[in-house]
Amino acid sequence: MTPEQLADRVLAWYAIHGRDLPWRRTRDPYAILVSEVMLQQTQVERVIERWTAWLERWPTAGELAAAPRADVIAAWQGLGYNRRAVALHEAARAIAEHGVPQDQAGWRALPGVGPYTAAAVCALALDHDVIPIDVNVQRILERALDATAIEPPPGRGHDLTQSLFDLGATICLARIPRCEACPLADGCPSRGNRYEPARRQSRFEGSRRQARGQLLNRLREAPVPLADCDDEIAALLIKDGLAEERDGMLALPI
Ligand code: SF4
Repeated sequence: MTPEQLADRVLAWYAIHGRDLPWRRTRDPYAILVSEVMLQQTQVERVIERWTAWLERWPTAGELAAAPRADVIAAWQGLGYNRRAVALHEAARAIAEHGVPQDQAGWRALPGVGPYTAAAVCALALDHDVIPIDVNVQRILERALDATAIEPPPGRGHDLTQSLFDLGATICLARIPRCEACPLADGCPSRGNRYEPARRQSRFEGSRRQARGQLLNRLREAPVPLADCDDEIAALLIKDGLAEERDGMLALPI
């Protein structure tokens, strides 16, 4: 299967099966930034409620920028990683002062915005022909194309991004992909594969140390998506100054 065939098939599938999510009804960069920051740590179903309430309270970057920091942090309760609220607040202040960035470099200059989020806002709000690679998109590309990136057809960056998000969330699942319902099944070399969950840590003495060492070794090779990490082990590494979280990834400290 070629990248072009993958794009055609996923786009056709999305036209029928795409999810109706509230942040897909807007192209407002600020609103999409809020959704992307919330989705980094929280399930879609819960973000729907929280994103809607957030946008009702602070409909624009300017209104969020003018809000007291304490209100912003309080409103973030339950969404995890409170420093994301602080970064979002700072980003809103930068947007209010300097305007909406028009390219990925401009977005990456904002507090708390890394390469993934910058690409996502550019694709979803500004219609740039770029595909942000999150853990779901990465999984599909690796399984179907043995690739790590894909170029969208001209003008289809937004739609192909949303298509891949949905295929990864509902069909090409991490452990047991639903290949029987997948538009890529005809031509996907990974069709029918199953992916075992990481073996549970035993209760034997030293097992946590072992897990920490294993994760740290993975980080020495490359950053690891936080979603793929054991929460407790990742937190221990961060607490010990051995790792830090950047844009949804666990990585060695800079
Ligand atoms: S055929 Fe299966 S493994 Fe391949 S992309 Fe579809 S769901 Fe994923």
